[in-house]
Amino acid sequence: MSLPDLPFNPAHCLINGTWRAPLDGQTLALIDPSNGSELTQIARGQSRDIDASVEAAQSALNGEWGSKTALERGRILTRIGQLVLEHVDLLAELEAHDVGKPLTQARADAIALARYMEFYGGSADKIHGETIPYLGGYTVYTLREPHGVTGHIVPWNYPMQIIGRSVGAALAMGNAAVLKPAEEACLTALMFAEIARTAGLPDGALNVVPGLGAEAGAALSSHKDVQHISFTGSVATGALVQQAAGANVVPVTLELGGKSPQLVFEDANLDDALPFLVNAGIQNAGQTCSASSRILVQENRYAEVVAAMSERYSALTVGPAMDDLNLGPLISERQKEIVTGFLAQGKDLHIAATGQIAEGAPSKGAYVAPHLLLCSDPHHPLAQQEIFGPVQIVIPFKDEAEAVAIANGTDFGLVASVWTENGARQMRLAKALKSGQVFINNYGAGGGVELPFGGVGKSGHGREKGFEALYGFSTLKTVAAKHG
Ligand code: NAD
Repeated sequence: MSLPDLPFNPAHCLINGTWRAPLDGQTLALIDPSNGSELTQIARGQSRDIDASVEAAQSALNGEWGSKTALERGRILTRIGQLVLEHVDLLAELEAHDVGKPLTQARADAIALARYMEFYGGSADKIHGETIPYLGGYTVYTLREPHGVTGHIVPWNYPMQIIGRSVGAALAMGNAAVLKPAEEACLTALMFAEIARTAGLPDGALNVVPGLGAEAGAALSSHKDVQHISFTGSVATGALVQQAAGANVVPVTLELGGKSPQLVFEDANLDDALPFLVNAGIQNAGQTCSASSRILVQENRYAEVVAAMSERYSALTVGPAMDDLNLGPLISERQKEIVTGFLAQGKDLHIAATGQIAEGAPSKGAYVAPHLLLCSDPHHPLAQQEIFGPVQIVIPFKDEAEAVAIANGTDFGLVASVWTENGARQMRLAKALKSGQVFINNYGAGGGVELPFGGVGKSGHGREKGFEALYGFSTLKTVAAKHG
């Protein structure tokens, strides 16, 4: 199936409000993971395109974009959000082809993108500094100011949501953005940029350069005129980005995934928990930074939880994104190899249940059936490493102390949830769990637009979403006026 007509050339970059071929003229094939066929060619941007984008962003800050009031910026973002809503079907179709995301999930991402624009549009004029009591004869106050040019390096798993949360907050605070989408999936990033342009975002305020991580991505993260980098992706690449930005003493926000647990205690309401236990693991075929890949269950409910989850797993079907089944393919053959490699490594684990690949699913699609695995050793590699595929591990625990030790016993700390009716235990665990977010009797996979999100440990640092992101995308200036 071919792509719908697009109002831009997908082999172009958007730089300074103009669609143009990358300066070296090179392109890359974009693959539909549902069938392995080439969707289109995209730009293979290089450092010269990044240079041009950073220059355009700086000019925007010195010109029309930089002179907008907070209210005007907010109105533009709100308008972008309205236009995104008008293009939800197109965005969902592009994402389904590009990421392999089932249409319903792709549609939810497009609606979330609009919601980010509404939220950050509304917040642009509600962030302000403070006055500070100081010595006699002084007036002291703080100003929240944009960093300047911000770099946004985005992965392929949730392009629309990640662009919404990082570019939305950066623009709300008055920064000008250079966006490097993932080489595996960049069509919705391009369409979003076209929507933003149409909505009246001034030239240069948002520039988009698709390309390879080692080329365009590295050029952006090491650029001496970029003042903030927001990165979402793997730990290894995040460390490289932080090093590159560090050479220029530039702050970074890193969101690097996790091994997020859900803790099911003996008094849990399983009817409430069950949909969250399974969906948080298989959503987007498990390729979610905040996927709940570890389910920790108190021993006396273990058999019951495994049986209930197994029943749901057995009913899951994987197939082409446009067929809108429970799961689509993984992003690529390479990702499929990574996930099947993990499954081979976990051959000693008992398979409680698997879903199935739909009959007739194209043989060249990157399909992996979801696996529910049982594991009594919380140190097993599959219970420690981020798999980034539809694989959940169920681990038993004896008591609260052991549950906390297992939950905190990985290098990560992004999201955790606790299922218990015991209010005191809820409060104790909310404090004891090493995690950027803790959900009680629910699971948010990152939560809503309003909720600050980010990790501890190897899950990264810095916070996106909510008002907290606006602090991250701004810098604080203290003004001390002596007037006697
Ligand atoms: P990656 O971290 O290498 O890529 C993410 C983004 O970084 C892409 O836009 C890529 O082009 C860019 N990038 C790559 N190398 C770069 C460099 N040297 N400098 C600057 N930017 C660079 O992730 P991947 O290779 O697509 O996936 C590998 C693994 O990463 C996955 O199996 C998964 O475990 C993990 N991952 C995590 C997330 C997440 O949301 N936390 C997202 C994608 C992948």
